[in-house]
Amino acid sequence: MPDLIIIGGGPGGYVAAIRAAQLKKSVTIIEKEPMLGGTCLRVGCIPSKALLESSHMYEMAQHTMAARGVVVGKLSLDLATMLQHKESVVRTLGGGIDGLMKKNKITRVLGTATITAPGKVSVETKDGKQELQAEQILIATGSTPASLPGIEIDGDRIGTSTEALCYPEVPKHLIVIGAGVIGLELGTVWRRLGAKVTVLEYLDRILPGMDNEIAAEAKKIFEKQGIEFRLGCKVTGAKVVKKECQVSIDGGELLKADRVLVAVGRKPNTQGLGLENVGVQLDKRGFIVVDKHLRTSAAGILAVGDVIGGAMLAHKAEEEGVAAVEYLYTGYGHVNYDAIPGVVYTEPEIANVGASEETLIQQGRKYRKGSFPFMANGRARASGTIEGKVKILADAETDRVLGVHIIGPHAGELIAECTAAIEFGASSEDIARTCHAHPTLAETVKEAALAVDGRALHM
Ligand code: NAD
Repeated sequence: MPDLIIIGGGPGGYVAAIRAAQLKKSVTIIEKEPMLGGTCLRVGCIPSKALLESSHMYEMAQHTMAARGVVVGKLSLDLATMLQHKESVVRTLGGGIDGLMKKNKITRVLGTATITAPGKVSVETKDGKQELQAEQILIATGSTPASLPGIEIDGDRIGTSTEALCYPEVPKHLIVIGAGVIGLELGTVWRRLGAKVTVLEYLDRILPGMDNEIAAEAKKIFEKQGIEFRLGCKVTGAKVVKKECQVSIDGGELLKADRVLVAVGRKPNTQGLGLENVGVQLDKRGFIVVDKHLRTSAAGILAVGDVIGGAMLAHKAEEEGVAAVEYLYTGYGHVNYDAIPGVVYTEPEIANVGASEETLIQQGRKYRKGSFPFMANGRARASGTIEGKVKILADAETDRVLGVHIIGPHAGELIAECTAAIEFGASSEDIARTCHAHPTLAETVKEAALAVDGRALHM
């Protein structure tokens, strides 16, 4: 009998399995897909990044390289090869996780799991039912795309991010419903490859949850790149009529496109898990309720990742997977929810960690703010990527860094330093006094920290 059964082989589940094995526990991981890695690897973070990188190269070759003296001959798009490259990246990484499971002597079961009683799991495999038993069960089943009433997803013309990662041809007109991370990343991919992209968003802003100032700047930049936004636009229905997609919006207007991407959030995967058999409590929105140690309301059952709600991010799930296992077997663990970075992999990238300015205002917290633009940074100038800025928010009294918001080149890499600063309880003065190599984009972070005290050097 294994010590721990993990249901779900995504970043939350497989990382928890590795950590438990490192702690000398015997682990069985159950996953219904042949490839481990979850949504992130199969149909999420990784394939979308492959397409974002490739489509960025295509756009540079088309629009920016000639001005830098790199002249490309007749340019063309080989979409099939671009999609194959994406698939091969996914396959390689999937093989890597298999290797990690073997190295850590983790048992894999391919099938769909249901918890039947405390410590008992029944798995539907292709060879019939397999009954397993363990002292502890960890649920890491993730989430699936949500939809809206009136939207008829046909898995082809009208689909979710899964379909938008493999359109066989570039749509002439793609309507994206939802201006969140998925809508903007995949909208960007297909715009770069030649589609007209219209994003319909219910709210009066894009990227809900992100710092307003940064989101407003992002919208302007995306519009300049050619994405059309319609804010305050409530979609009431979408259907396919003879290969044409028809999208109706509140007020009676009908929009037409050849493909529709529904990107209105994700919902937790709890159906069929047998949670009712063991009394695992869900909240009003259907997420599994956990305590600080990631224990559910049922003894011996833990849960991590998208299925418990909060930021639906692979790295948040990983942190929780490790922490859940450490709390369980060592008595101590750690997830700092104030220091979980978020990144939107558009161009420029957008990244944040900690509180937004709106949150601080809402909390009535006094803060100081320092911003520095990339256009005053030598490395950004040299690479021709001068849009955006770094904004640092620090406590007015203690100077402790409370939030960092970046829109600009490699923001997703730059945010790591800021996350470490928040994790270590750094002040903006600590960042300002830290020597940053020249010429690097990271100097923008240092300058923004200096700007908190009104003493940026290059502005
Ligand atoms: P989201 O919650 O980020 O955005 C959904 C958007 O749809 C919101 O802006 C919402 O207001 C809008 N919307 C809802 N109903 C609507 C309607 N009827 N008409 C028009 N607009 C409507 O969700 P998402 O973009 O689908 O992403 C899902 C999750 O996956 C998020 O939690 C996201 O953080 C995560 N994710 C993260 C990354 C990343 O970190 N780079 C990438 C992809 C996905």
